[in-house]
This record gives sequence, C-alpha cells and structure tokens, in this order.
Amino acid sequence: MDIDGTLLRAGGIGRASVRLALEEVYGSSAGIDDYRFGGRTDRATVHRLLGVQGWASEAIEERFEDFHAALAHHLTQLIASGAFEIIACPGTLPLIDALHGVEGVVLGLVTGNTAGSAPLKLAAAGFDPLHFPIGAFGDESQERNDLPPLAVARAEQLSGARFHGSQVVVIGDTPDDIRCGRHIGARTISVLTGWYSAEQLNPHQPDLVLDDLQDTNAVLQAIFATDNAQEKRPS
Ligand SMILES: [Mg+2]
Repeated sequence: MDIDGTLLRAGGIGRASVRLALEEVYGSSAGIDDYRFGGRTDRATVHRLLGVQGWASEAIEERFEDFHAALAHHLTQLIASGAFEIIACPGTLPLIDALHGVEGVVLGLVTGNTAGSAPLKLAAAGFDPLHFPIGAFGDESQERNDLPPLAVARAEQLSGARFHGSQVVVIGDTPDDIRCGRHIGARTISVLTGWYSAEQLNPHQPDLVLDDLQDTNAVLQAIFATDNAQEKRPS
C-alpha cells in the first residue's frame, strides 16, 4: 500500500520536512515549492532537485544517509509541533485493522517515503506501523518500479509463501502506483483520495478505481476478488 494520498493525507508535512533536511544536509532546497512529490521516491526527489542545481549524482549519494537521518529528525519535530494535520483517509484505519487479521495476507508498504519517515507518518495518523511487517521504501531506489519486487521478496522471506502475478495487489493514488504494480503483473487498485482524478488515472489502466477505501467489505471483496485469500498479499 502507498502512504500519501492513499492511507493518509499529511497536510504538507512531507514537503516541509524534506525542505529542512535538504537545507541542513545539502545547503539548498531550491525548486521544492513547485515540485510534485506524488508517486516519486524521496531518493528521486533529492536527485531531481539537486541535479538541476548542478550536483553530481555521486556527491548527492555521499550525503544521502545523512539526508535520510535528517529527514526523520525533522519529521519527528514537525509532528510534535502540531502545526500539521495528518489524517487517515476515509476507511483506511478499519481496513488495515481488517486486513491485519486475515490469515495468509502479508500487508506491505510500497511508498516513496523513506524507511525512516514512513512509520512516523503512519503513527501520526493513528496507524500501528507494526501492522505493516514488510515494505519497500523511497530511500531504496530512484525508481518506484524497483519497489514492488523488493516488497514481494521480503513478503516471501517473512511468510515462506510465494506471491506472484495477481496474488499481489498494489493500492495507490497515482499513475506511478499503477505502473509499478503492472510492472510485476500485480493487480492494481487506484483510489481518488490523493491528487489525481479518475480521468487522469484511467488511461494507466488500473484494475479498479475506487473513490476511497471507506466501505471495508467492498474493498476487501475487491482485494480478494480473483484469488484465494490464503495467497493474497496487498502491498
Ligand atoms: Mg501516494
């Protein structure tokens, strides 16, 4: 599952924390005001914003772990400040509770957020980050398409089961979520709780578009529509 625009809305705290971490570690956050985060990994964001300023890829990478740590630090402080409203999208809290209890499901995150940021945002919106035992994160690649295979490998390692094709379900709010799911032959469910309309998402051919994840039973039916529940892994 994707985080921003799918599980929760973070009220701009992502952009604010990336801005502070960029300024602390690289000395500049130029271009961030007009930058579109949706669907992109944080590693890609850092490379894109600094790349146009003339930073070499190797120089960016040298400090990337510092950036990763600074981002978690600033996100923690901004959450504690109470200045940002981080709220779960409609129905997502009960949906995750329900999926958490389904035998054979390995609930995973596939997100542009870094591994350090993701649990902080989730907890701030009322989720238990431990309900997502595996994930693939935005510090692990500049390419979102790299993330689902990582998540699947980790789910297989954790569960001892094999997950392939439509046994994997990718739920997200952007064209990039659809693309990265289709890349591994997963089923893709798009939600309109982010920043994209059905008209913008449909050309990317998701298997299903839902207004939101509010109707828990309907969403569970959609997730388990074609395959045996024992083999299904939403990610
Ligand atoms: Mg998103």
